[in-house]
Amino acid sequence: MSESAILGLPVVRESRVQRRAGNSYFIRTFGCQMNEHDSERIAGLLEADGMVRTDAAADADVVVLNTCTIRENADQRLYGYLGSLKADKQKKPGMRIVIGGCTAQKDKEIVRERAPWVDVVFGTHNIHRVVDLLDRVDEWGPVTEIWEESSSPDDVPSFLPTRRESEHSAWVTITTGCNNSCTFCIVPIVRGPEISRRPGDVIREIQRLGDEGVVEITLLGQNVNSYGRDLDLNGRQPLFADLLRRAGEVEGIDRIRYTSPHPKDIQEDVARAMAETTAVASQLHLPLQSGSDRVLSSMHRGYTAKRFLEKLAMAREVVADLSVSTDIIVGFPGETDDDFDATLAVVEGARFDSAYMFQFSPRPGTPAADMPDHVPPAVVQERFDRLVAMQNAITYEQNQERVGMIERVLTEGPSRRNPQVATTRSEGNRIVHVEGIYEPGRFLDLKITRAAPHYLEGTLV
Ligand code: SF4
Repeated sequence: MSESAILGLPVVRESRVQRRAGNSYFIRTFGCQMNEHDSERIAGLLEADGMVRTDAAADADVVVLNTCTIRENADQRLYGYLGSLKADKQKKPGMRIVIGGCTAQKDKEIVRERAPWVDVVFGTHNIHRVVDLLDRVDEWGPVTEIWEESSSPDDVPSFLPTRRESEHSAWVTITTGCNNSCTFCIVPIVRGPEISRRPGDVIREIQRLGDEGVVEITLLGQNVNSYGRDLDLNGRQPLFADLLRRAGEVEGIDRIRYTSPHPKDIQEDVARAMAETTAVASQLHLPLQSGSDRVLSSMHRGYTAKRFLEKLAMAREVVADLSVSTDIIVGFPGETDDDFDATLAVVEGARFDSAYMFQFSPRPGTPAADMPDHVPPAVVQERFDRLVAMQNAITYEQNQERVGMIERVLTEGPSRRNPQVATTRSEGNRIVHVEGIYEPGRFLDLKITRAAPHYLEGTLV
């Protein structure tokens, strides 16, 4: 039996005509890690059908755009890019243009209206159909296939072939979709309710990655803490903490990260699994979003600032030397000066190692887009600048505290600025530069010698 069959991968049947064998494909990805991983799977499917990758869209036989709808300017960039592809297609009439991802799922009619030269529009749960949809275009013309609410989770295969961007590091999806209803977020609408992969499938994929030489994995889910709640394994629901422990036993996998937990759902069992599983990095991304209870309630986040800080304290107490990052939205509708001051107070108290900070951008289709009292842009900008200045100062202080420490880092490749210097990443997810040339995917012990605002420098121990 082939390895693909053992793993449940869709086996490319020998009788299947690989219509595009030798054709070239190009993929451009907009958006988050989930999308980047989906693009790796789209590439895997196209290559399983005999296609080869090119880095020039204009030369490609098939151009795939994997879209994002989280931010408003993502739409503008997409339609701008589609305009330039129209000209490419006029010069190369056989070119097939394929749109997938969240914008395709949400705005299929708009995509068709604004860019009728697109050949395939497919939804967030239809990735596995990409090759069949291309075949259908050849016979029937432009085709649209998106996920419908009536679709069954069983329609979505657990395994897909993947063309990874990195040889030593890989993403592993554990859930898709989300059962929460944060009022600023489009994910539940475009990715549907949460579907967990069965733990056996996840662990088998991690074992295969370990066999292939991968040393670091990142478990992906919109809310990893609710992993398994939709599964029933002989009357028992698998827990995320159990999954972390099992992943930590896989040979060859020496570093495990995950994103994202939800502050309302993270429990001590997960922190204990992190602390007691050597391979799990002592790093946590815990999205705060706001420090104001009024705004958190309006966001439907399900926790207060006090509760958030209690969860953070619990995690820091259980996991030694825990590095914590967060997400914060500035200028949510109705945010007052007092609300924003409450956010600054939490940021000051929490002392995050780093933060992804955003200015609120209304997404059509979300409740927040229709809320009254949008904050004037100039006020949002002023608050945003103050928040960034505060967090940058904290990040720099946290970095300075690492000087003199020994960090176990994973090499990523030469630094972009100086090929004689290697860029590495610490367990706490900090960038650490070290002089020398090292192949990607090696663990090194470095003594930290200097801290900069957004990176560290170290020497080999
Ligand atoms: S938890 Fe909230 S922010 Fe995260 S994906 Fe679900 S709805 Fe969106």
